[in-house]
Amino acid sequence: MEVMKTLDSNAWEWLVEKPPTQWSKSHFKTHIKCDILQNNLCESFNNIIKTARNMPIFTMLEMIRCVFMRRIQWRRDKMSSWPHQICKNIFDHVQQKKLEACNCTVQWSGGPKYQLDAGRGNQYVVDLDNHTCSCRKWDLSGIPCAHGIIAIHYKGGKAVEDYVHSYYSKDSYMALYNNLIMPINGSHDEAKVAARVRRKLAYARTKAAAAAKKAALNASQPNAAEIA
Ligand SMILES: [Zn+2]
Repeated sequence: MEVMKTLDSNAWEWLVEKPPTQWSKSHFKTHIKCDILQNNLCESFNNIIKTARNMPIFTMLEMIRCVFMRRIQWRRDKMSSWPHQICKNIFDHVQQKKLEACNCTVQWSGGPKYQLDAGRGNQYVVDLDNHTCSCRKWDLSGIPCAHGIIAIHYKGGKAVEDYVHSYYSKDSYMALYNNLIMPINGSHDEAKVAARVRRKLAYARTKAAAAAKKAALNASQPNAAEIA
């Protein structure tokens, strides 16, 4: 922050008013298992619906419904043929971290904690029981960092994928996409229903008018007692 203050005092003043939990990973909570700082998720959603956003409201909603109806089934099909226990992007990420882990050395204290030396004076503590590392990358993301991967290999017995948080498992993914959006009938049925409603309303109005006319006629005619 002090460096930023010297570089741009306006940026520093703007940022210092914001709670650090909104922009600094060092203050992010770890139970969420998400280290994303940007709002790219919203932008991806907006990109999908940008064509529909220019449409009238019912057309827009119908287009979005159809997009997600197809998308959910497409994702379910794709994931059902995936052979690993964690999702593809996370699997690829772990493979990359395994390569980075080659530069670390490990020392074991005898308990669940390991001391990792990443070179250049960078030293971290990995706790395999709690799935944490003092670099905080594992804590924030739920995915073992390079230091954690070295400790996992050193301990042996379980695969790195076994230490990835269950949020990223294939089972969780399939459970998430288990709620299907069902097909619905088109507007031609709506037109039939509307016509049926109009006919019933017209019949009710005619019947009410006839009843009112009859009542008025009866009221205008003198009864037998008045005639006598
Ligand atoms: Zn780490």
